[in-house]
Amino acid sequence: MTDGPPGDDRVVVALDVGGTGMKCALVRPDGSVLHAERHPTDAGRGPDAVVETVLAVAGGLADRARAAGSIPVACGVAVPGVVDEAAGVAVWSANVGFRNVPLRELVGARLGLPAALGHDVRVGGIAEARLGAGRAARHVLFVAIGTGIAAAHVVAGSAAVGAHGAAGEIGHILVRPDGPRCGCGRTGCLEAVSSASAVARRYAELAGATASAADVAGRAAAGEELAGRVWREAVEALADGLATGQALYDVDTMVIGGGLARAGGQLLDPLRAALHERMTFHREPRLVAAALGDEAGCLGAALLALDSLERR
Ligand SMILES: [Zn+2]
Repeated sequence: MTDGPPGDDRVVVALDVGGTGMKCALVRPDGSVLHAERHPTDAGRGPDAVVETVLAVAGGLADRARAAGSIPVACGVAVPGVVDEAAGVAVWSANVGFRNVPLRELVGARLGLPAALGHDVRVGGIAEARLGAGRAARHVLFVAIGTGIAAAHVVAGSAAVGAHGAAGEIGHILVRPDGPRCGCGRTGCLEAVSSASAVARRYAELAGATASAADVAGRAAAGEELAGRVWREAVEALADGLATGQALYDVDTMVIGGGLARAGGQLLDPLRAALHERMTFHREPRLVAAALGDEAGCLGAALLALDSLERR
């Protein structure tokens, strides 16, 4: 965050582009939100149409800021998949369809403003570490558990990107060598066992009935044996994955977000206990629920844009 002068009327245009929707906002340098709006992504239209919507929405937000007497100073965009942040290129995304889209340049040219491009989970981790549940910690691992599982390792407010823009793929840590097949093609990855979609799939397999991960959590809490078993399997595998994460990163705090974290204590309490059992000489991290909900990516995109201004 940058501290502006009193009466600072600068804002950043921020967009978090997901497979189904875009969360968009005008964010002040202190991280507060001046205005927020949402739009459908309609990824089925193809990547060119999605890019055009991103540019139109970003331009509309910049106009709105000016009309309100604010000064748009930069634009931050977060996208899923593989992102080359240094080059500003959305390299690959399964659910939005991006293939080597130079999004930073396109947004910068359309708005006439400096722009930054980031990975949705990494910028979400930056937001949780700086504004959310990891505020008090210097070393944070943010883990988003939804359709898949991904993480961001944030140290002093910056997330490691990796040599190829693919750091944080904790969902593809091998936890069950004989486990179910993962979307990546291998068997036994963490996200093939513990993601929200994996929990729903496993329950359907055992119970012969469809239920969402939230339903499974609810049924487990109500004492249904089969749901309890599926939930425990997911928690145990997740603890294995987090223990590996702690061995690699030695963080103070792990922030658990994404759809599955809405189960709250029903996820966090047994997960904390299972992680505790797995610690030997490693220091046990504090395990907390994410605080920013699905706005984390949008706020993180804004922080990334502000950071890029400081480096100019
Ligand atoms: Zn995998």
